[in-house]
Amino acid sequence: MDAARLVPAYVALGSNLDNPRIQVGRAIGALGTLPATRCVLRSSLYRSPPFGPVDQPEFVNAVAGLLTELEPASMLAALQDLEVRLGRAKPVVRWGPRRIDLDLLVHGATRIDTDRLRLPHPGIAERAFVLVPLAEIAPDLEVPGVGRVRALLARVNTAGVERLAA
Ligand code: AMP
Repeated sequence: MDAARLVPAYVALGSNLDNPRIQVGRAIGALGTLPATRCVLRSSLYRSPPFGPVDQPEFVNAVAGLLTELEPASMLAALQDLEVRLGRAKPVVRWGPRRIDLDLLVHGATRIDTDRLRLPHPGIAERAFVLVPLAEIAPDLEVPGVGRVRALLARVNTAGVERLAA
């Protein structure tokens, strides 16, 4: 890989089906196999209460830090491909339970707002289950146009987001 072309990117992982700890662990391992990409940081696993209108089991969440040569659109396509390979079925209901969910949170300084790809991911600032693991690995990260992770974390209610023992 060409070190000069490596861009830092952060991916949020979540699962609440089929042994979520195993699913998230497998997905973190698989991130390191993406083309032109190295997985350089991984948070602990956290449990978090389900959100949204559907009654469903709690989630296991984590965040990984990557260095990548992939462009944002290629990275999103690679993550979606990985979701399928890891056995994500077509969701039955929006916001419903899922075996694995991979969201591209940040890709370098990129800011995009299309239906297919939004960067930074629009949920970051209000989601404790993203900010807690992200702050573990990158508290000083400046989320482009949004703010510093440490400051964003101070503004959300983190009740219910608990680190799982290794
Ligand atoms: P979800 O079911 O929550 O994984 O949402 C997937 C949809 O969100 C896909 O259609 C993506 O194209 C779209 N999307 C937009 N921005 C992002 C992003 N930053 N990361 C992941 N998916 C995104």
